[in-house]
Amino acid sequence: MIFRTTNPRATRPTLRKVRSTTALRPLRHRLDPAKVEEIPFRASDGVRLGLTRVDPGDRDRPAVLLLHGHTASADMFLLPETRNLVDVLLDDGYEPWLLDWRGSCRLPYNETGGRYTYDDVALYDIPEAVAHIRNRIGDRPLFVVAHCIGSLTLSLSMTAGLVPGLAGVVSQGVFLTPKLAGRTSLSMTLAGELLKSRIDHIPVDFRKVGLWSKYTPLFALASRKASCPDPTCQILHNSAWGTGASLFVHEHLTDTTHGRLAELLGPAPLWILPHLRRIELARTVVRWHDTDHRYRALPQNALDAAARIDTPVLLLAGSENGLWLDSQKLCHDVLARRRPELDVTYTEIPGYGHLDTFLGRGAALDVFGHILDFLGERR
Ligand SMILES: [Zn+2]
Repeated sequence: MIFRTTNPRATRPTLRKVRSTTALRPLRHRLDPAKVEEIPFRASDGVRLGLTRVDPGDRDRPAVLLLHGHTASADMFLLPETRNLVDVLLDDGYEPWLLDWRGSCRLPYNETGGRYTYDDVALYDIPEAVAHIRNRIGDRPLFVVAHCIGSLTLSLSMTAGLVPGLAGVVSQGVFLTPKLAGRTSLSMTLAGELLKSRIDHIPVDFRKVGLWSKYTPLFALASRKASCPDPTCQILHNSAWGTGASLFVHEHLTDTTHGRLAELLGPAPLWILPHLRRIELARTVVRWHDTDHRYRALPQNALDAAARIDTPVLLLAGSENGLWLDSQKLCHDVLARRRPELDVTYTEIPGYGHLDTFLGRGAALDVFGHILDFLGERR
């Protein structure tokens, strides 16, 4: 079944053609394949996405939609080598759903497909996935657990009023008040300059791009002062695609996960940087499109529209987050002051970085319990 909404947006002409016929890369998991339902799913602007339901065997469970970060994929919640979030949710009585939004590395768009901004994710991908899930689950509660840009774009959908009535939201890493490390900001400006060159995305798989290529200087830069010899790990752990940030606490990954980094995190498109840069400068989530009427449902400034948040929010962050720093604590403090009526809590995970809150060998022990406690109080 191809999912199309009846939203009037669907009848308006799209501005650009995008490559949307490519099949998704298969998920890697150790679930019973018969329990993994992959749903053909296309956003109303024509872009092919991925939507997966894990069948728990009974039909009365609350549903939990999981949103990955940019260049990651649903695979980040399904690691076969650790006790992962899907395992934990199934054991605790939930029905997991996974959306591969257009920034997923299981899809081609970051590398070769049509360009997009985070507006498209907030306007099309997330609300339409939520609508589809609601059609399937009826009036059962629906929660969302979102990581990094998945969470940042969710905040834009929520403050636009496009996903009303969620039972609760868990946001990891960043939500309404993005704050990047100083070195990251500076490098993003430099990376913006790269847009003018023939580099339009930053690869992570050294084996694919080869030792000598136009990317060699990026890998060389990332290898400076690196303690790990793996070039993919260097570009992510030591450099976060050339920005200078760090994506995880190295010793938290199993050897297997470390060896799969190029599969778990794909190339980063540089053409997304102007939108990210605008968001960073505003210190809140702002829409990119100012004049295109298709995007007018999105608030110009998500923080100013925070009163539209109608669900409890748990802000999670590792104390050592090397990409978004203390953005989540800042978000909690700002919302407590500006919107004291909202139900927003903040939980810090000691010793954790950014991605290891989901990919880490001990995440089930150190992180997922906080998520289950939050969901359990509201199911
Ligand atoms: Zn490493």
